[in-house]
Amino acid sequence: MASVLIALGGNVGDVRTTFKKAIAHICGMAQATVVARSSDYATPPWGDENQDPFVNACVEIETGLDPHALLFVMQKVEQKFGRTRDQDRRWGPRTLDLDMIAYDDVSMNKPDLTLPHPRLFERAFVLVPLAEIAPERVISGIRVRDALASVSTQGIEQLPDTG
Ligand code: AMP
Repeated sequence: MASVLIALGGNVGDVRTTFKKAIAHICGMAQATVVARSSDYATPPWGDENQDPFVNACVEIETGLDPHALLFVMQKVEQKFGRTRDQDRRWGPRTLDLDMIAYDDVSMNKPDLTLPHPRLFERAFVLVPLAEIAPERVISGIRVRDALASVSTQGIEQLPDTG
């Protein structure tokens, strides 16, 4: 079984409910179990700033699927929740974005899949929830809590648990 870190984001619709359903779908389709799940965080829009705030979270799962099979599942789940890649502005509003942050210690650079995720360390909205569930994990030689200490977390707010 592999330990996989997945980042979730969205800013259209009831994003927190979408996250719950998306995680359940990933687990069902990938025969995966949830090892840890972060809080949800409200985060300022990034890239294209002329849009609503985002909600972000991270989850650690265990799965027997290989990285590409899991990416396929994640893309199916994004499609199910209404994300239509072609219509989206890059960095624009979206119902659900799923990124594979790390898959065990696998390192790969394929046209459709780069592991660990190449923009992980630039993104406080990924590092804040990731540090909640995996502060000691070392990714590309950098400990998650050290990576978090080197970015600004201004404007990021932990949302209360909805149960
Ligand atoms: P984005 O629109 O930023 O979510 O990027 C989606 C594209 O990134 C897809 O075409 C994926 O094939 C590709 N991709 C490359 N590496 C990853 C990764 N680690 N996790 C998710 N998508 C990835």
